Amino acid sequence: MNNLLLKSYLRCKRKAWLDLWGEKSLKTWSAQQSIHLITEFSNFNEFTKGDLFNGRKACEKGVKGVIGIKIIDKVKNNLKIELNPSLLIRTNGDSIWGKYKYLPAVSKLGHRTTREHQLDLALCSIFIERFQKAKVEYGLVISKQNYKLYTEKIFISKKLRDKAINLFFELNESLKYKIPNITENRKKCSICSWKQFCDKEATSNGFLTDIDGIGRKTAQSLKNIGIHNVKQLAASDKTKLKSKLSINDENDFKKINQIINQSKSYLSGLPIYLKSHNDLLDLFKKLNQGFYVFDIESNPDEDHDFLYGLLSVENVYDQNNNFFYKPILNLINKNKYNLEILKQLILRNNWPILHFGETEKITMIKMAKIINLNKFDIDSLESRFIDLHLLIRNSWILPIKNYSLKTVANWVGFDWSQKNISGSKALYWWIQYRNTNENSFLEKIINYNKDDCLATLEIIKWHLDNAQKFL
Ligand code: SF4
Repeated sequence: MNNLLLKSYLRCKRKAWLDLWGEKSLKTWSAQQSIHLITEFSNFNEFTKGDLFNGRKACEKGVKGVIGIKIIDKVKNNLKIELNPSLLIRTNGDSIWGKYKYLPAVSKLGHRTTREHQLDLALCSIFIERFQKAKVEYGLVISKQNYKLYTEKIFISKKLRDKAINLFFELNESLKYKIPNITENRKKCSICSWKQFCDKEATSNGFLTDIDGIGRKTAQSLKNIGIHNVKQLAASDKTKLKSKLSINDENDFKKINQIINQSKSYLSGLPIYLKSHNDLLDLFKKLNQGFYVFDIESNPDEDHDFLYGLLSVENVYDQNNNFFYKPILNLINKNKYNLEILKQLILRNNWPILHFGETEKITMIKMAKIINLNKFDIDSLESRFIDLHLLIRNSWILPIKNYSLKTVANWVGFDWSQKNISGSKALYWWIQYRNTNENSFLEKIINYNKDDCLATLEIIKWHLDNAQKFL
């Protein structure tokens, strides 16, 4: 029983159980977890200015930062606990080692300090106090945003300590019984290393949260009226459902209609087309003259777009796949933009710019405004963007769990040349590149970005072909 299991438990009860009892070979590598570990070490190293050492001897020496320490103790009822504090920071005080003591610190990714950070600090504080025989008043949350290190003090109140201990007992109880159910909040699963394992079970049981548009609340409302799985939802009558759920709002009614259709498509494996002939003709006309496919790779914590990838497509039906891909690297985040990409986009200013998701359009319009492009040119640039994600969402109901680029492209038959790939993995490579200057990491990122562009192209081809068939 340790604080790492408590962290897992706070994310998802099932995750803690699987971390302890699960078959380890079914666990997959998590890019997010690796990014966290690399960032954590880099933040701790910077915070302690390199005075960072491992183990108990480092505490005796009184170094600024101590990592890799293990404290074994007991809580009420003789329950054994093992603590692995992420970092101990030296501060003034009186402890078993002399005129200094240690405080616990954790590292966070992103802006939000969570319950997980607070409770981990509280649990560690209780046992660090006993270990060093000196009080811990607060812990630190260390993070880095835009190349600047930030620290936040978390005061370890009695209430927070009690909460941490109670949760630890709750965790201990939970681990004695059978595996907990899959969380209703499936958003948490996206970065979990047990995702593949849980996905299989959710699919075989027809979980409602497997349907795009159904979150925890909607699933609960449906269960309250006797709809427990995808099959029951697909067989439901929308008008009866509307009345049972007491829906008056037009948008909520549309949503009910949409999730019923989504579950029908999911079960049958067949797409449903929603659009009109005119929309399709309009799109054909726009793309006929040639177009760009555009995709950006970025590091959100540093607000840094490090790669702009541009695929030039003269003819969408070119059998020889003579599409020209140009990667534009922006390795130094000095000016936060690289004008080369804007120049490229303006080279063929009658070509539409196809992208998946809103990021690319927002970024380029922001860049155009920063360099004071005139309003006419900005409007003209803006009108060229076609968000394929939006287009697909408005045109189709597809038999898939979500409408991310990876899911849609895989479904239309596109395979990424590098296996088990994701945006998080590209970010992981970028962080590795930054730490090592190894060009092989850049090559992997560029290949990944090129594949993202090709995947987007494959989706538009599928859309053009299949929308015609449906009309
Ligand atoms: S995949 Fe989801 S349900 Fe399964 S352990 Fe992870 S967070 Fe929990």
